[in-house]
Amino acid sequence: MPADCLFCRIAAGDIPATIVHEDDLVIAFRDIEPRAPTHILVVPREHLGSAADLDDGHEPLLGRIVAVANRLAAAEGVAETGYRLVTNIGGDGGQSVEHLHVHLLGGRQLGRMG
Ligand code: 5GP
Ligand code: ZN
Repeated sequence: MPADCLFCRIAAGDIPATIVHEDDLVIAFRDIEPRAPTHILVVPREHLGSAADLDDGHEPLLGRIVAVANRLAAAEGVAETGYRLVTNIGGDGGQSVEHLHVHLLGGRQLGRMG
């Protein structure tokens, strides 16, 4: 684990976060600067820089990330109204934390992507 990685440190419990899910593969916590009524980050425990680092060996991890996000969407009460799962990659993709994370956004009408 890179000692200076924010999300590795949150996953290790070194930095506090509002954790809403934890299992052997992933952790999920509320975004510190929420841009929707529900804004949760689903984060692998393994340090991966972004989704660009996922390969065939990560299929179970990717499945877990989406399954957990779907369960959290239901728990947050946004499953019926709809929600967005998004992961940013690199500078032009808008990524600011270089540890793979999937945003779960819901609870309001989200703008068009672009
Ligand atoms: P990105 O811009 O890389 O797609 O998303 C990074 C997200 O991490 C941002 O939405 C930002 O608000 C969130 N974030 C940054 N620092 C912290 C922190 O210390 N704690 C939590 N819970 N979220 C953070
Ligand atoms: Zn990390």
